[in-house]
Amino acid sequence: MTRALSVAMWSIYRLLVFALAAASGVTPVHLLEFCPSAGPDCHSDDDAASTSRSSQRAVKSRWNGNVSELIQDLDQFRVSCKKLLEVFPIDEVSGNFVHTVKNCIFSKSIPTPLKGPLSLAAVSKDVIEGILDLDVAVTQSTDFRLYASGGRLLPGSEPLAHRYGGHQFGYWAGQLGDGRAHFLGQYSNRKGEIWELQLKGSGKTPYSRSGDGRAVIRSSVREFLCSEAMHFLGVPTSRAASLIVSEEPVIRDKFYNGNVKTERGAVVLRLAKSWFRIGSLEILSQSGETDLLRKLLNFVIDEHFPSISSNDPDKYLVFYSTVVNETAHLIGQWMSVGFAHGVCNTDNFSLLSITIDYGPFGFMESYNPNFIPNTSDDEGRYRIGAQADVGLFNLEKLLSALSPVFTHKQQEEAKIILKGFVNIYQMRIHQIFKAKLGLLGEEEEDSYLIPFLLQMMEDTESDFTMTFRQLSEVSHLQLHNRNFAQMWALDDLSTHQHFSDWLNMYLLRISRQQNDGDVNRQNRMKNVNPRYVLRNWMAESAIRKAEMNDFSEVELLHHILSSPFVTQETAEEAGYAARPPSWAQRLKVSCSS
Ligand code: AMP
Ligand code: MG
Repeated sequence: MTRALSVAMWSIYRLLVFALAAASGVTPVHLLEFCPSAGPDCHSDDDAASTSRSSQRAVKSRWNGNVSELIQDLDQFRVSCKKLLEVFPIDEVSGNFVHTVKNCIFSKSIPTPLKGPLSLAAVSKDVIEGILDLDVAVTQSTDFRLYASGGRLLPGSEPLAHRYGGHQFGYWAGQLGDGRAHFLGQYSNRKGEIWELQLKGSGKTPYSRSGDGRAVIRSSVREFLCSEAMHFLGVPTSRAASLIVSEEPVIRDKFYNGNVKTERGAVVLRLAKSWFRIGSLEILSQSGETDLLRKLLNFVIDEHFPSISSNDPDKYLVFYSTVVNETAHLIGQWMSVGFAHGVCNTDNFSLLSITIDYGPFGFMESYNPNFIPNTSDDEGRYRIGAQADVGLFNLEKLLSALSPVFTHKQQEEAKIILKGFVNIYQMRIHQIFKAKLGLLGEEEEDSYLIPFLLQMMEDTESDFTMTFRQLSEVSHLQLHNRNFAQMWALDDLSTHQHFSDWLNMYLLRISRQQNDGDVNRQNRMKNVNPRYVLRNWMAESAIRKAEMNDFSEVELLHHILSSPFVTQETAEEAGYAARPPSWAQRLKVSCSS
């Protein structure tokens, strides 16, 4: 490499210093430090934790005995709210009306049935059979449509609405809570996993504020498809079992511009190991309910952090440290697939560091750290390149929420842990992007290669998903010859004036990898660079049909996004890996849902 080129690259690098990791106030001093673990994704501790979690849970199903066959009869399917009802006090004020709730974690609240007829718009066989142990055939019944929309209660269900608060767009918003969601119960499956079932869009609760408790078809299709898609992309997330649409009129001003329309209500049956959020702890801390704060923390730690001993005097600190670590990993994974959550308020940040509450999210198309998926986010607070920043902000709020249970010393230690977030995130991002480029081992210039590529992508507005995917599909020889026929994203990228410099560096870098054939590199890269993500235009097209009771495209997308790393003929025919249509650029998504 000539000195001039090296200097040019260095200045590009300095300018960038990880556009993706561009957390303001964040000095990426440790960018060149690497994960001590040998694993490709720096996640060994967490993997160990989750293995121990699942082995701990690999016991006889608590409520269903030894289930060997899939359940054929819905009446045999039992959930339980017992545990939560035993542990936590319940709202003393009964009645499903909006009120300020104190001294409890949940309020009892019965779902309001949707006006029928009801249609099953989508169902996830993977969730129904793989998590809920149900034969997917049962989803075709009227009973299922009622159970999965709040029209009838599952055996054992005592529905609850969760009380939480949150910082929204940077400010404390007070009591929020499940305003349109009902926790139905826990299900203990035959693998020994415990899942919490929730309906979203199932009517008013004490936390509905001025809302109607409903969710419309478009947002529900997006949540159903995206949560399933994220799972198959390998990103920790809540899951979706089914989507029921109704004839219930729901009034929405989609873009808050006075254009009020009547849409239709829908309900997603969604699942997570836990729905507790940072806001679940914040509301207790803010209201001075310290005993309850401790109780909730103990519960979350006992149930979901088995590696933390309940006798450990530092258990809250270890819990905090784990959440800081896992949140950094989660945001890293969002960035790896170009996912912008859209509303990263503390009430939408899970304590288990899974992606929850899908609203105006978006997958970035042209690479742009300033990509804002949500048109309601005027200031771009939740732009894709600021998600790490926001993660830091939210974890700071978590630290404040934990302050009442920390000693002074632990508080100081927690601050140091929080400072470590940036390093963890940057190391993770570095590993992720190295994997996306198929790089093995560690070389000094990796810290040029990645930001250099991202800068070129930004300059040329190259498609994030397809640039990485096509780099995975292209052979060394094709790269060398710059033979990008049919490779529209690489074609765009190659118009950059410094493309040849980058390419030479990249080719040299991968050719230095010992015991690594080109096919190996391609396969490795294809496993981390999806060919299909849920682009807005794809969701929009499926939604337009779904609103006319044609669910075929929802089904098609669901199917394709269940194997996002595999080239599929139907997806190619549908143009899902092609250059997005021109109308895609005009699409907008707001908070209205
Ligand atoms: P979100 O941004 O969708 O996570 O929602 C923020 C808060 O508003 C949560 O407490 C929701 O339960 C509540 N919420 C959103 N939409 C509605 C609605 N239509 N009716 C009642 N509550 C709602
Ligand atoms: Mg939310």
